[in-house]
Amino acid sequence: MSQSKGGHVHAFLLDDGGDLTLIDTLFDTDAGRILARISAIGKRVEDLKHIVLTHAHRSQLGGLATLKGLSGARVYSHAWEADIVAGERVAQPISPVPMRPVRTYWRVYYLQLGAALGRGKHPPCPVDATLEDGDRVGPVTVLHTPGHTPGHLAFWWPARKVLIAGDAIATYPEFEPGWPVFTLNPTQHRVSLRRMAELDPEVLAVGHGDPLTAGAAVRLRSLIEGL
Ligand SMILES: [Zn+2]
Repeated sequence: MSQSKGGHVHAFLLDDGGDLTLIDTLFDTDAGRILARISAIGKRVEDLKHIVLTHAHRSQLGGLATLKGLSGARVYSHAWEADIVAGERVAQPISPVPMRPVRTYWRVYYLQLGAALGRGKHPPCPVDATLEDGDRVGPVTVLHTPGHTPGHLAFWWPARKVLIAGDAIATYPEFEPGWPVFTLNPTQHRVSLRRMAELDPEVLAVGHGDPLTAGAAVRLRSLIEGL
């Protein structure tokens, strides 16, 4: 699922034949798009058992509180992000200086400015359980991939060779190793990118922009070459 607001933000509903697992919750606070998708695949909101967050940025947290209220699903994040999700701490500020090239990034400048000024609060929601590298939730394995934020998580679905990379990689406005100004720790970020490339993903799903649906490993390796 996706919406243009929030920088072509995407969320992922995983159905492994039983319970539903949702990764991130889009920008809108009413969760309307996600609820529509759940019914479109013939499921009920009560079938949603796990809501997993890649990290605590506004574009990923919009529908969280609504979905938690309707489904009672367990909410998971990395420990470092949990108090931001709960509304007890604000996300790390980033620079308001426009990202270059401006002709590419003007489309997402409103999100950068919001993050720079600490504006655009999400409806807070407590986290029920924290995740660490190597944990399993639903059908996916947790990868701790710091850099974009300290507690950023990616998810690997080995049976389908699907990598859900969160904001560590973006395909909107173009294919790139994350939006530059948003990366809080470039050194950690490079390590995380190499680790993800080594998984040899076939499909690469990202937080902002459409997924790469085939041959993702080759494109990912060429993207991070020389970083
Ligand atoms: Zn982010």
